Amino acid sequence: MAFIKPTEQTPKPGPTPFRSASPGQTWDFSNCAIIVAHPDDEILWAGGLMLLHAECRWTVIALCRKSDPDRAPKFAKVMEYLGAKGIMGDLDDSPEQTPLSEKEVRKEIQSLLPLDRFDLVITHSRWGEYTRNLRHEETSRAVLSLHNTKELSAKHIWMFAYEDGGGKYLPKPVRDSDVKVWLTDKIWEEKHKIITDIYGFGPDSFEAKCCPKQEAFWSFGGK
Ligand SMILES: [Zn+2]
Repeated sequence: MAFIKPTEQTPKPGPTPFRSASPGQTWDFSNCAIIVAHPDDEILWAGGLMLLHAECRWTVIALCRKSDPDRAPKFAKVMEYLGAKGIMGDLDDSPEQTPLSEKEVRKEIQSLLPLDRFDLVITHSRWGEYTRNLRHEETSRAVLSLHNTKELSAKHIWMFAYEDGGGKYLPKPVRDSDVKVWLTDKIWEEKHKIITDIYGFGPDSFEAKCCPKQEAFWSFGGK
């Protein structure tokens, strides 16, 4: 079993709006959602978890690129491969990364969210996973805000826990994250194949080179 129980809690950087999940939490989720900025983030940061828990009902909401003729059909293929429900939005994702208001991102998520009460919702870290994509941070803030106002129904919220040393190296799991998932070679190879063969990222792309072999998350108790 690759799912590792979180150990003693350590303080997280910055203020946290929720209490931490109690130590000893195990995998007890059947209806799960991943809310990300871009199609491919779900695989890069949590694809191993999805493959390991294929018995769960997975919904993936990607907030950008619905009208991208390249990425949108690839996302659909990945969702089909995983047996997951894929939902796309079309938030601005131009290279300028003009900041989006929390209200705008919240609205986009609300317009895409199914009515489910999720056992687990996974999203980006409030500090992102690397230096730097504003959409990751904005997505995280909006998801937490919706959960705080009870407009997003989830028993637990997990956030990706990766860092790149301020851009010095490829993103790697944060050492003191709450949940760490070590992927077997077989699972990692399958995850990597989704990145290269279905999403079509070349072997020298950031996505193919990064593709973490260990996945890590911050865990927050639900409401
Ligand atoms: Zn992204």
